[in-house]
Amino acid sequence: VTPMNNDLKIANSTVAEPIAKIAEKLGIPEEALVPYGKDIAKIQLSYLTQLEKTKKPGRLILITAINPTPAGEGKTTVSIGLADALSRRGRKTCLALREPSLGPVFGIKGGATGGGYAQAIPMEDINLHFTGDIYAVTTANNLLCAMIDNHIYHGNELRIDVKNITFKRCMDMNDRALRNIVCGLGVRTDGIPREDGFDISAASEIMAVLCLASGQADLRRRLDRITIGYNLDGEPVLAKDLGAGGAMSVILKEAIKPNLVQTLEHTPVLMHGGPFANIAHGCNSIIATKMANHLADYTVTEAGFGADLGAEKFLDIKCRAADLWPDAVVLVATVRALKYHGGVPKDQLNTENVDAVKKGIVNLQRHLGTLKNIYGLPVVVALNHFATDTQAEMDEALKQTASMGAKAVLCDVWAKGGEGALELADAVTDSILNHSSPSHPYDYAEPIAQKINDIATRVYGAERVDFSKTAKQKIKMYEDQGYANLPVCIAKTQYSFSDDPKKLGAPENFTMDVRDVALSSGAGFIVVLCGTIMRMPGLPKKPAAESITLNENGETIGLF
Ligand code: ADP
Ligand code: MG
Repeated sequence: VTPMNNDLKIANSTVAEPIAKIAEKLGIPEEALVPYGKDIAKIQLSYLTQLEKTKKPGRLILITAINPTPAGEGKTTVSIGLADALSRRGRKTCLALREPSLGPVFGIKGGATGGGYAQAIPMEDINLHFTGDIYAVTTANNLLCAMIDNHIYHGNELRIDVKNITFKRCMDMNDRALRNIVCGLGVRTDGIPREDGFDISAASEIMAVLCLASGQADLRRRLDRITIGYNLDGEPVLAKDLGAGGAMSVILKEAIKPNLVQTLEHTPVLMHGGPFANIAHGCNSIIATKMANHLADYTVTEAGFGADLGAEKFLDIKCRAADLWPDAVVLVATVRALKYHGGVPKDQLNTENVDAVKKGIVNLQRHLGTLKNIYGLPVVVALNHFATDTQAEMDEALKQTASMGAKAVLCDVWAKGGEGALELADAVTDSILNHSSPSHPYDYAEPIAQKINDIATRVYGAERVDFSKTAKQKIKMYEDQGYANLPVCIAKTQYSFSDDPKKLGAPENFTMDVRDVALSSGAGFIVVLCGTIMRMPGLPKKPAAESITLNENGETIGLF
């Protein structure tokens, strides 16, 4: 491979194995499969119940990373390459990954199916509409919104305070113009005017609910208990009060089934659910991870962005909800991100700079320390090789990592597929100790502010946390309402340990600014908004969308 836009060509030149054959590799019987065309299938939920009774879980490997550059450091790519390498070593392996959102596809980051010779296929379908799970999430979300406004229009028996509706509309697009809107304009029959807004579907509570639900009944319970806002007495109004939970669960009845696809080397992939890790909890569904874990001897799963965001939420929220714990962690680093943390501007990352690699290693060091010392996990560092890396830069990165007492392995999965991660696969399987017991930076029983403080100081390295007046008031209100024991889901920039995207490396003596907090009583966490992070992203000045089109043969071009 040479230019990055060859991903689609590589993906399309590979003949996929029939999806039933991929299922067979994991022992999934045909009656548990719901085929969506030739290369995609959903898996019946009842099959998970059966598996949990009959099969012991295998090993779980979590892929995380240092703080990324805006292009991403290759977690998905390395996850896929590592899983292919484990398959090549004769191990029964399955991936559990998130589904791509259209926002990044048409924005700056591109698709989320890996790259080069480490991809999940059919990549075009997966990156565009796939099996419609995200549409279902969006539709269920917006049904609830429509029912809120409809209830108010028809007399507002629940006395919903139109100035205090917290549940927002959503769509799967980066559209800053919809962050704050006024709905209900027009004549009397057009509804009651009020301020509203859109979040991207990947950040919606419905997405989190889908990803944290243990099954159909739990999904329904979570949908029912979503807080949509408050009545005129300040008491919470739930989705249940509007009678919306049943219809929402019907809209989501196929979306809750995990999707089976394959890698270019035909390793099975369960791709299901897609919350972002900066503004949401950042991991694929519990259902997919559990299913993979019971089907395969080795499950490789990715948590979004850096270990401060994705891994923290994977370990502190998802693992506690699902009673899971990884057996090993892979921390992905790149020479370019190390240089970025070492002070090199974005447009000069392709120029050799060994000194900057050395300086930037402090970012990796802090993540490594957290994973080992706070979570007690065995970690292997995977240096994801880019063609622009020089030998001296790679040697420096590996040497620095080794000097911290960590195992560091170079991998080249983008150019070589699974073959480029054989050494990594061996290092990971060797690193797996006997099951370590879970350990966390905070307890659920602590007061909410204390939990936020623990993450900020112990995981991010902050000096202290400042709470806005609104944040303080709302935290008190949630505690009074009986939500004191929920975990917290921090929304902050992915570029820095801090809430300031410009503080690179391993910043010290900084203050985290908690601007606002929001209750997700359905998902079962409190979202903590830090710095200027938004739950509806915008497009960059030159969005990827400008170069995406169909050619005269009806083939997509310009996608990645
Ligand atoms: P993450 O999951 O960490 O966000 P991805 O695996 O999606 O990162 O990779 C981000 C982008 O970088 C993708 O377009 C991918 O194809 C590309 N990429 C990843 N690794 C390499 C590599 N070693 N060489 C070139 N491009 C790469
Ligand atoms: Mg990814």
